[in-house]
Amino acid sequence: MRVSCQLHVNQGDLEIVLPDILKELHSKYKSMQEGAVANYIPELAKVNPDLFSICIVTVDGQVYEVGDYEQLFTIQSISKVFAYGLALEDHGLDYVLTRVGVEPTGDAFNAIVLDEQSKRPYNPMVNAGAIATTSLIKGSGPTERLNRMLDMFRRYIGRDRDVFVDISAFTSERSTGHRNRAMAYLMLNFGMIDRNIEEALDLYFQQCAVIVNCQDLALMAATLANRGINPITKEQAVDSRYIKDILSVMYTCGMYNFAGEWAYKVGIPAKSGVCGGILAVVPHKMGIGVFSPRLDARGNSVRGVKVCEELSQQLGLHLFECSGQSRF
Ligand code: GLN
Repeated sequence: MRVSCQLHVNQGDLEIVLPDILKELHSKYKSMQEGAVANYIPELAKVNPDLFSICIVTVDGQVYEVGDYEQLFTIQSISKVFAYGLALEDHGLDYVLTRVGVEPTGDAFNAIVLDEQSKRPYNPMVNAGAIATTSLIKGSGPTERLNRMLDMFRRYIGRDRDVFVDISAFTSERSTGHRNRAMAYLMLNFGMIDRNIEEALDLYFQQCAVIVNCQDLALMAATLANRGINPITKEQAVDSRYIKDILSVMYTCGMYNFAGEWAYKVGIPAKSGVCGGILAVVPHKMGIGVFSPRLDARGNSVRGVKVCEELSQQLGLHLFECSGQSRF
């Protein structure tokens, strides 16, 4: 039982209650059919809409999971969080801020909009900002930049098999992603991107097509929750000094034009993707991954949002929870 605002997860209690809570949430929302899979990227339309999994990894490396947690899918927008971390490591916060802001847009993830005054994209969690962020990744050429990106994902995922780009998803988006191309050209016009546009877009489409499963999402989230240290391999995936920057922008912008309501109701930093994944971070405690491909109108997983709302309520995860009535 938590008795103050200084939340502390009682590990013993978690081990007992989490398996049942996850099973209950999975069976409660399994029948929910609302929403539709993303189809603006042709490859994404092929996914089985009924897939559903929930996974939690604690900062001490305990794993709790239910459903199709080994099912592979492309990470899509969730990759933006990690590319932002790499850009911060490559250039430092001050420079990155000259190219990408940290203001929520209140608009859709794919809005073609830049800050009127500064001409920067609003934040790194929407497409325009993510393309600008990815264009900052250092490397002597496209291959080295892609390899640095994949190495970075490997540190978070920490599994013994390699991290791959799904070539079909990548080429599917490259041949249809003209809206993203339009944003990139607009940013080129304002000097927010200075590298070869097609190369920057290729790297962005490749990062979105990185293959993960729900366990990976939870472990990546747990790594962010654990000061950037992967709780299973103990490898430092990202410099801990940037964790607060990454989590702040996830908190305010990670769920697009639902970010305010999410912060209000769920109260933890999170990021969604049109694959149907949601990755949520409970700082110093745990990472949560949910995968269910049916999306609402804002591009967030319908079941994923429900599961996170209930998990937050049941476990008292909201960062500003002070009622003393939570279970931990
Ligand atoms: N690759 C997708 C795009 O750029 C990612 C969008 C998302 O997941 N919200 O449109």
